[in-house]
Amino acid sequence: MKFVVTSKGDHKSDSIKSIIDQYLTDFDLEMDKETPDLVITVGGDGTFLHAVHKYFHRLEETAFIGVHTGHLGFYADWLPDEIEKLVIEISKQSFDIAEYPLLEMKIHRQGLPEPERYLALNETTIRKIEGSVVLDIDINGELFERFRGDGLCVSTPSGSTAYNKALGGAIVHPSLSTMQLTEMSSINNRVYRTIGSPLIFPSHHMVQFKPMNKGQSFLMTIDHITKSVDHVTLFECAVAKEKIRFARFRPFPFWKRVHDSFISDDR
Ligand code: NAP
Repeated sequence: MKFVVTSKGDHKSDSIKSIIDQYLTDFDLEMDKETPDLVITVGGDGTFLHAVHKYFHRLEETAFIGVHTGHLGFYADWLPDEIEKLVIEISKQSFDIAEYPLLEMKIHRQGLPEPERYLALNETTIRKIEGSVVLDIDINGELFERFRGDGLCVSTPSGSTAYNKALGGAIVHPSLSTMQLTEMSSINNRVYRTIGSPLIFPSHHMVQFKPMNKGQSFLMTIDHITKSVDHVTLFECAVAKEKIRFARFRPFPFWKRVHDSFISDDR
């Protein structure tokens, strides 16, 4: 089995990466940065997001696992003092796979024949550097509402505990193949009206955001990546057909992670 270890880059994460590299090489596993079967991240959820984006082109062949060197992570759940246990499990070269949904975002821009396509593990957001975001929101081809406000966030179930949660979105179990739309400070008065509640969509639904004036610029995020996009004519969001594969060497109950992260980790 081919593996690669990525690090957050701080001293603690780098030294744990070196230890894992050494142990796995001693177990005769091959280190391969280009075509790994297993990607082990050392750091936090941010480190995990970076690694997943690096290997998005290999989702069908690659599984991911995270070691956290800070507070408990949603994606990185192994502790530094469990490293020996983890490498012994990896050396057996057999593990369960848990698949989680991803989000697909297509951006249509004036002058480009094909839309740009992105995948997100947590979420995508649409904002503007200056002024309000004004977008018509279509659900499955029908106008649902005209949104005016700071921006919009569309999250995956596993991203529902991240930015989505801060926006008042629901926490969604990642076994549900869904995406969630949340508003960022919508303007609501006699002239402008939005639903105000987060919306959760099944995997066969498509949500489109249509800028009022064609050719506008937006500030977008796709997980940790920020992009300025101009001349946008249409954004399209749907649950992606691809999934991310997590390597599981022990149970990793989602609701326990939610409890330990947001309620307390002392039980
Ligand atoms: P960052 O500012 O370094 O990280 C933001 C925080 O979000 C970190 O504490 C990170 O955990 C945590 N996080 C990431 N994914 C998570 C998940 N699925 N569930 C719960 N917490 C999660 O930014 P970054 O490292 O570039 O990460 C980008 C992510 O930050 C975005 O995808 C977005 O979800 C999140 N974000 C959140 C807010 C907010 O809550 N108001 C605002 C902007 C962005 P670690 O410390 O373990 O890395």
